[in-house]
Amino acid sequence: MQISKNSVVTFHYTLKDAEGTVLDSSSGREAFAYIHGGGMIVPGLEEQLEGRTAGDSLLAVVEAGKGYGEIDPQLLQKVPLDNFGGQTVEAGMQFQTPDNRVWSVMEVEEGHAVLNGNHPLAGVTLHFSVDIHGVREATQDELSHGHVHGEGGHHH
Ligand code: ZN
Repeated sequence: MQISKNSVVTFHYTLKDAEGTVLDSSSGREAFAYIHGGGMIVPGLEEQLEGRTAGDSLLAVVEAGKGYGEIDPQLLQKVPLDNFGGQTVEAGMQFQTPDNRVWSVMEVEEGHAVLNGNHPLAGVTLHFSVDIHGVREATQDELSHGHVHGEGGHHH
């Protein structure tokens, strides 16, 4: 069957950036499983999987806007070191604000730190190599739970 709304799709993938650096991969893990059409994966990949079938392999190139979003300059901020309550601040450290946003310290300059609250893959064009293993209808239980049961999903 072809991938359409409410299909359960299992696939293996390798995610690279434009330079070919591997950012993520399901290699060595269970195949990834999701319910199609529910926004469980980045929109650009979901679009390109539509209509595919088990056994298909594809390279899906996803622009940042349909991936993890463009870089939001408002989420690049210079924060005075005085705001950290005397704590040592170094590049690579991460802080979480009450809105659950994770900020990474990009660099520390005289008197202030440069923080980035964007998703680490914001602004990145994503290159997914995908091997589709299985396509089936989601069960009623899966649709009501909003996740896949069995291979690549929840076991309960
Ligand atoms: Zn469940």
